[in-house]
Amino acid sequence: MKIGRRDLAKKGYTFSAMILPLGILFAGLFGLALGSFLNVCASRWPEDEKVTTPRSHCRSCGRTLSWWENLPVLSWLLLSGKCRTCKAPIGWRYPAVELSIGVLWAYCAWQAFSASPDLSAGVFSYEACMTLATAIAKMLFMCLLVTLAVIDAENLWLPDRLTFPGIFLGFALAVTRASLTTFMLYGGNHHVLKHIVGITIIQFWFFGAVLPAGGLLIIRWLFEMIRGQEGLGLGDVKLMAMLGGWIGIKGGILSFVIALGIGVLISIRLYFVPPPRGKKTEEWSVMKLPFGTFLCAGGIIAGLWGDKILGLYAQLSGTQ
Ligand SMILES: [Zn+2]
Repeated sequence: MKIGRRDLAKKGYTFSAMILPLGILFAGLFGLALGSFLNVCASRWPEDEKVTTPRSHCRSCGRTLSWWENLPVLSWLLLSGKCRTCKAPIGWRYPAVELSIGVLWAYCAWQAFSASPDLSAGVFSYEACMTLATAIAKMLFMCLLVTLAVIDAENLWLPDRLTFPGIFLGFALAVTRASLTTFMLYGGNHHVLKHIVGITIIQFWFFGAVLPAGGLLIIRWLFEMIRGQEGLGLGDVKLMAMLGGWIGIKGGILSFVIALGIGVLISIRLYFVPPPRGKKTEEWSVMKLPFGTFLCAGGIIAGLWGDKILGLYAQLSGTQ
């Protein structure tokens, strides 16, 4: 039986009313702090530096930062985006990453609370735990995507150390979720379990990951044949496999379509807008675009609102 927040409040459980705002607040604050760490990864990995040592320092003068210079978003605002000693500018990417992870985490928490009345009432039923686990997985997915987006935008590189664990994790989570759901519905019936796990493997691994990644591999090959240059990196193919593994083939295709849309819009803009000072026109218009960043943006949109967008599409196209 589901217990609504109102029922609980009637019984005097006013604490339940605090769970929702506190949960969202904690998720947001934790996201901000994690964003700060992901910034360090995004700056150090491309330079082949260790993430743990040395301590946070100015990348221009090397001075170790004091605690108050490490506060997410706030420090950047307090320092007006400049190092205190050498006055070297600190990119807006730092507060942007922190803020996006913070907001995305708070939003994922809000989505979970609104999907599960049990969770927002603090009743840890099976349904509430599953919703919570799904939300945490989604938060992890958002972290992966934001970090990959930043690294690709700055270096045109999608590191294997993120895409490979991403592919594995998405797949492992899909199988765990399917096994658990089947177990709760049918008990430990061996055949049912085997059947559903098999379907998940086919659905997420083959249709979700292998097929879209294969499609992208073919596009990459065709592009190279026609244009004689590399248009899509292998990193994009691995990222596509990761997306499909986490959000299924429909979500993967939706991410790809959104990425293409962003790519086309930016290409048109680059074509018509004169290059900034110091850049040659020819270089500007054929500038390599970080397709991985666009795919990540597509993945974030598909991960958060994929079902709604696809439902709307089905309604409009009359397939439903
Ligand atoms: Zn400095």
